[in-house]
Amino acid sequence: MIKVLVDTHTHTNCSTHSHSTLLENAYAAAERGLEMLCMTNHTPALPDSPHIWHFETMGSLPKEIKGVKMAYGAETNLLDLDGNVDLPEEIQKKMDLIVASIHKPCLAPGTADDYTSTYLGAIKNPYITILGHSGSVNYPYDIDTVVKAAREYNKCIEINNHTFTVRRPSIENCRKIALACKKYGTHIVVSSDAHNSFDIGNFDNAIKMLTEIDFPEELIANATAARFTEYLKSLKK
Ligand SMILES: [Zn+2]
Ligand SMILES: [Zn+2]
Repeated sequence: MIKVLVDTHTHTNCSTHSHSTLLENAYAAAERGLEMLCMTNHTPALPDSPHIWHFETMGSLPKEIKGVKMAYGAETNLLDLDGNVDLPEEIQKKMDLIVASIHKPCLAPGTADDYTSTYLGAIKNPYITILGHSGSVNYPYDIDTVVKAAREYNKCIEINNHTFTVRRPSIENCRKIALACKKYGTHIVVSSDAHNSFDIGNFDNAIKMLTEIDFPEELIANATAARFTEYLKSLKK
């Protein structure tokens, strides 16, 4: 039975299309038995993201709330074919983790070759940890090439539970990506991408799919807080 005890991608109401505070999210995480919670709000290229100071000041936040370990990062926007993102490098450097995602308003429309190039650039950025919701059918890419590169650079591919409700046509694509991760031995993370506290730690559909394809538990980097913390440390070296 697959268990995931770290939520690697969640939003607070500092991104105004999300509806809960950090404290509400942390309490929800504690209630649901999570060991660790990561706050990853949207970065400035999205219209309702918090001011850059939100990211500069995260160092003052507690490392643990209600017995839940806390990690602070961002869900950055991929901006171009080189995989650049919308945060200054000095801020990226200080974060516990960085998810890099394609969001429609931030990247010019392109071909599968273009999106492959964008993701390869992101993988090579030493501060980026995770490729976010890459299963979107709107942004197809060469799965084998990207999944192999993620393995080479020790980066994670996200299986985003939110995709199974808001990006339904992408579910089949997520399965293909997970199968490629299994084939090449690439780490994944499972996340809720919660936009309110009621969704924190909700991985049900993602876990169902991973169970169906008999996904190896040892490749889930966020199965436990201990494993995820070790993994983040290995990236900082
Ligand atoms: Zn996103
Ligand atoms: Zn998100």
